[in-house]
Amino acid sequence: MTGSLSIAGLGPGDTALITPEVSAALAEATDVLGYAPYVARVPARAGLRLHASDNRMELQRAREALELAANGHKVVMVSSGDPGVFAMAAAVFEALEASPECNELDIRVLPGVTAMLAVAARVGAPLGHDFCAINLSDNLKPWELIQKRLRLAAEADFAIALYNPRSVSRPEGFDRALDVLREAGCGERLVIFAHAVTTPKERIDIVSLRDAKAEMADMTTLVIIGNSATRRVGRWIYAPRRAS
Ligand code: SAH
Repeated sequence: MTGSLSIAGLGPGDTALITPEVSAALAEATDVLGYAPYVARVPARAGLRLHASDNRMELQRAREALELAANGHKVVMVSSGDPGVFAMAAAVFEALEASPECNELDIRVLPGVTAMLAVAARVGAPLGHDFCAINLSDNLKPWELIQKRLRLAAEADFAIALYNPRSVSRPEGFDRALDVLREAGCGERLVIFAHAVTTPKERIDIVSLRDAKAEMADMTTLVIIGNSATRRVGRWIYAPRRAS
């Protein structure tokens, strides 16, 4: 048997947003690996081994996946959303760099609907003009770098999607991020707080940055800050396609 490793995105939550390609890979898998809440989204069946692991075990999990594939297993590594967006695909390639003997393995990255696209679709078209995405987790990068990117993104007038805005272990970072954007003159911009989109717990709050409070976000929230031209039309929000 020849092994393979598919690094797959499960989308933001709703099973209707799992691509047919990902469903087919899961149907053929012998082993599924990932962070426990994501593995829990994969239905158990005979012949499928589920390997759930802790949040911070990415590199170890990636090595294990390569090893299983090298031993002939059909492995699927699952992430939420898209596997290439602040998720497992980069960790697998980091592990591959350290294991050149695995270079010839059959490895595929299967895209998924990333959170910011699911959120944008819910509220209208806030990413209809130029935008950027910033991960606010400072596990793997210094706060100074996050702050610099926020400042420059504000100056460039991008709409900004913020992933991992807030966690119990670093509750103050998001507060500081909002301050950086206010100091950069973005107080009037619209801010979308989108919580657990496409799940039964979905909730979306929209306020101006001036009125935004850090407590409006947690780890299941994606935040989109509009650009200076982002506007409302009825219940929708969009970024006009023309900029001056
Ligand atoms: N690979 C994922 C992102 C993982 S980082 C993707 O492409 O979507 C985890 C962060 O993604 C969360 O802190 C949150 O900011 C965002 N996120 C993931 N699923 C979400 C959902 N259903 N609703 C809102 N935000 C979500």
